[in-house]
Formats: sequence, C-alpha cells, structure tokens
Amino acid sequence: MSFCVNCGVRLAPSEQQCPLCDVFVINPLNPWTEPAERPYPKRVETLIKKNVDTKFTVIIISISLIIPAIIPMLTDLFIAGGITWSRYVLGALFCLFVFVPLPLMFKRPNKYLFWLLDTLSVAGYVFLIYSSSGSRGWYFSLALPIIISVALGVLLSMIITASSTSSLKKAAAIFAIIGLVSVSVDLVINFHLGSSSPVHWSVFVVSPLLVFSSILLVIDRKVELKEELRKRLFY
Ligand SMILES: [Zn+2]
Repeated sequence: MSFCVNCGVRLAPSEQQCPLCDVFVINPLNPWTEPAERPYPKRVETLIKKNVDTKFTVIIISISLIIPAIIPMLTDLFIAGGITWSRYVLGALFCLFVFVPLPLMFKRPNKYLFWLLDTLSVAGYVFLIYSSSGSRGWYFSLALPIIISVALGVLLSMIITASSTSSLKKAAAIFAIIGLVSVSVDLVINFHLGSSSPVHWSVFVVSPLLVFSSILLVIDRKVELKEELRKRLFY
C-alpha cells in the first residue's frame, strides 16, 4: 500500500500518478503492476466548471427573490385592490437583486459600476419610503446625505483595497474611513435636528478608531524599518 508523498491520499496499486494531485508515485518496495481491475475509469470526466455553478447560484437566488415578491403583491392586490404596502417589499427585493444576483450574471463585473447601481437602488428605495410617508423634508436633509457619505466611504475603501500598499496601511486607512463616515453621519443628523453641537456620539467612535489606525501605521513603519535594516546589515 502506498500513500501520496504530496497530499497523503491512499493509493491503489494501479496508480502511477496520484489521482488527486498528479504527483508521480515511486515506491521501490511496491513496484507498479498492471492490476486486473482498475478502481475507476482511466479518464475522469471533469465537467463541473465555475460558470455552471455561478449560473445555478444566480437562478436559485433569483427564484428565491421572485417567490417572496409575488406572494405579498398578490395579497396586496387581492385585499387592497392595488399595490400599496407591497411596494416596500418589492423595493427591498429589487435592492437585494441589484446587490447579489445581478453582479453574478456578469463574468467580470465592474465593481465601481455596481457600487453606483447599489447606491442608486438604496437611495431610490429610501425615496420610495419617503414619498409615501406623511412627514416632509427628511429625505434631502437626512437620508440622502447619510446614504452618500456611507457610499463614499465604501468607494474609498474599495479604491484603497485595490491599491498595492501594505495590508497594515490598508487596514489603517479603512479604520480611519469608518471614523470619518461616522463623523459625517453624526454631522448630518445634528444639522437636520438643529442641534447646538455639531458632533455627539461619533467622537466615541472616531477616537478609538484613529488611535487604532495610528498604531497600525506605527507597526507598519517598524516592519518597513526592520526590512530596511535587514537589507543594509545583511542579517
Ligand atoms: Zn497526491
């Protein structure tokens, strides 16, 4: 009996190559002999491809979104004689559709285009709620600025993660962005409420985040310094 030296899988006496990782099998104590019966056919069909899986996932997600869309819509039509409350369900499901299955339908979705689509769908959904709510004014002075600041924070984080800086610097930047977004959300809320002080709770969010971010930057600097010293001193 032999085991693969690379992946450790148990090998049948008929193996000249590991069926799992393709490493050649050389066992001097157990030379290869043509077996009377092979454990499986010589040619293994490899039909399962990534796009087949993605297509299947898209179909499953879309169906699981269509069912909860149809039931409230029919109930609403039947009871109220039109689309009243079910528009909230439909709007939320549409947002979910834009968030998950829609980008999966593309082989190489442009993440910035989908960032824009996601932001627009959320802004549109909140506007739908606003337009049917009785109270006025909160969309443009509260909801929209919050959506825009969160979306800009997400966009900045996307640009930073795509850049080629060290992961410690990236993490430091993302912590700082989360802090900035919370400050801007706090500012928007206080401005909307006509509050005396421009910032309240966000101080408690942004200060530890900035401390943590600076610690990460210091560690990153140390790592760089160590590398530099190592190169100069040949150790
Ligand atoms: Zn192997």
